[in-house]
Amino acid sequence: MGFITYAAGTRIFEQGDMSSEAYLIQQGYVEIAVYIDNQKTVIAVLGPGEIFGEIAAVDGDARSATAVAIHETVVTPISRNQISNAINNGDPLTQLLLQSAITWLRDVYKPIEVPQAERSKQKLNSTNQFQQTQDRVIDHINVVSKLKSAINKQQFQIYYQPIINLSSGMVAGFEALLRGPTNLPEFFSPTKFIPILESSRLVVPLGRWVLEKTLQSIQHFQKEAAKRGFKQPIFISVNVSPYQLEKKEDVEALARIIEASSVNSNHLKLEITESALLANPEQSTWALGLFRNTGAKIAIDDFGTGYSSLNYLHRFPLDTLKIDRSFINNLTMDENGERIVSAIIHLAHDLQMDIVAEGIEQESQLRWLSKKSCEYGQGFYMAKPAPMDQSIKLLQKAYF
Ligand code: C2E
Ligand code: CA
Ligand code: CA
Repeated sequence: MGFITYAAGTRIFEQGDMSSEAYLIQQGYVEIAVYIDNQKTVIAVLGPGEIFGEIAAVDGDARSATAVAIHETVVTPISRNQISNAINNGDPLTQLLLQSAITWLRDVYKPIEVPQAERSKQKLNSTNQFQQTQDRVIDHINVVSKLKSAINKQQFQIYYQPIINLSSGMVAGFEALLRGPTNLPEFFSPTKFIPILESSRLVVPLGRWVLEKTLQSIQHFQKEAAKRGFKQPIFISVNVSPYQLEKKEDVEALARIIEASSVNSNHLKLEITESALLANPEQSTWALGLFRNTGAKIAIDDFGTGYSSLNYLHRFPLDTLKIDRSFINNLTMDENGERIVSAIIHLAHDLQMDIVAEGIEQESQLRWLSKKSCEYGQGFYMAKPAPMDQSIKLLQKAYF
């Protein structure tokens, strides 16, 4: 992003121009005026830190006002592309609000002297764009309301994927993984619905439900394991979204659920990604402390995919490090892949953490990891996530 300097008195753009950049003022002042019947009305004088030209930059229509530098002025131009990328990545409701604000502003600044043919073409484009955004917002709102009703009716399902002890080859625990309601097959996978639930914050009540259900299921898994002569108690891992850590009362509600359960909370592990921890490190430290006080264990999930700053690892109370599956994928590909995983294992052990290797898909990966004193492994090679009754059967299996 470069700078442009305008001498005092320069017209940056004129009412009716078809240019479509917006500008952020770094230094100086810009006068924004509209001309109606050759009569000038100044509508604003803007200074450093303020933006102008954004209306045309959003809707691509003609300039509705004239911008003149009234001192020597330095601006950073922002292209229409940059702006439309930012808007398109935003929440659909924000997009609709923005477009309706722009349409309203356009009405305020009428009439605009632009050749009629050009103007009606532009008008048609922005009307179509507006219609498309409206359609997308309506779809989005419908989806959110379907997911909300599925939460209220407890139609989400929990699958379990075993986590294997790499010295014994037996199941050590399970990760609880959400699956969508059966009546919404397009939302079976959490990668489809978690982002929508996160942006609407519905992940907060659903996350509480998952925790309650999982605590109930631990008892069931442990009873079945005891029947089969397991000496070590089975543990269960639950994913916690960063949005569940945003508000103090939501964190406290999770801690209360753990405390109210009759389960020994040492057998519960909460999985939190590194980016979630670093989004607000102070709040995360407090939240992890509260969870730790209940007796629950904490795992750092998808290790290596977030900020990958090793600096923070010792600052949080962490029990387990889950190596992301992208590293396990590369294990058998080349020597560097092996070196990196070895280094992560050493690092975690030095920090008194145990390790789960995620995404084991081949026997060779399983063998390599068990030789490297990696405590636990998880992956399709052993088992895919499945409903509870199928997962319970895995307790009698030895994976090697
Ligand atoms: P995650 O926490 O990293 O969960 C592990 C994901 O990797 C699961 O996908 C699992 O099916 C998949 N996986 C396990 N082994 C293998 C393997 O060998 N190969 C490959 N290619 N994949 C493997 P899933 O169940 O689709 O979940 C995706 C993500 O959705 C999870 O990633 C987690 O971030 C999120 N998620 C799932 N359940 C919950 C939940 O209850 N709450 C929250 N907040 N997020 C959840
Ligand atoms: Ca996880
Ligand atoms: Ca993971």
